[in-house]
Amino acid sequence: MKVEILRLFHRAERDKRVTTHCGLVGRAFGASGMYIYGDKDEKVASSIKKVNETWGGDFFVVFVDSWKSLIKEAQQNGKTIVNLTMYGIPLPKVLDRLKTENKDLLVIVGSEKVPIDVYMHSDYNISIGNQPHSEVAALAIFLDRVFDGSEFYREFENAKLKIMPQEKGKKIIQLSSNDFK
Ligand code: SAM
Repeated sequence: MKVEILRLFHRAERDKRVTTHCGLVGRAFGASGMYIYGDKDEKVASSIKKVNETWGGDFFVVFVDSWKSLIKEAQQNGKTIVNLTMYGIPLPKVLDRLKTENKDLLVIVGSEKVPIDVYMHSDYNISIGNQPHSEVAALAIFLDRVFDGSEFYREFENAKLKIMPQEKGKKIIQLSSNDFK
């Protein structure tokens, strides 16, 4: 199952860090890439690109002009649309269904208030608890559950650096690009 993210209503000034963190969490936790609807903020794309260059993988960042067209196209391509919202159905109640259907997912996270149209166009409106919190936290927990904790074991192709986990201190090794092939 592949998962892509749609970040809605990005505002360059207010959301720069949070949208970048959605991308970083998406990349680290197994999503393939992130579409952004809102301000075309190249700083977000260049931050993620730099992380890819050092730590590997090919997580994409693409700006879209119409979120409705993206959702329509995703549905035509057989993807399931998931809107993460505190108003939705708790994830544990729908997780088995998502896994059994085994379709690629487009996961929506908002910034400011998300219009009702998004709820109506989504196949699932899913909550990570029914309290307001953060798109970064919601995305992390959603990906962790969908991919069964695979972030703990994930390797990234063409990484230049890799961390060797330590009980104390920091150890980073330099890799040649062949080490993950
Ligand atoms: N009240 C806003 C709304 O209309 O959805 C919440 C905005 S919140 C700052 C930004 C995003 O975080 C939401 O669009 C949603 O994707 C995510 N989010 C926040 N709390 C959530 C929760 N409990 N469950 C799932 N997603 C959540």
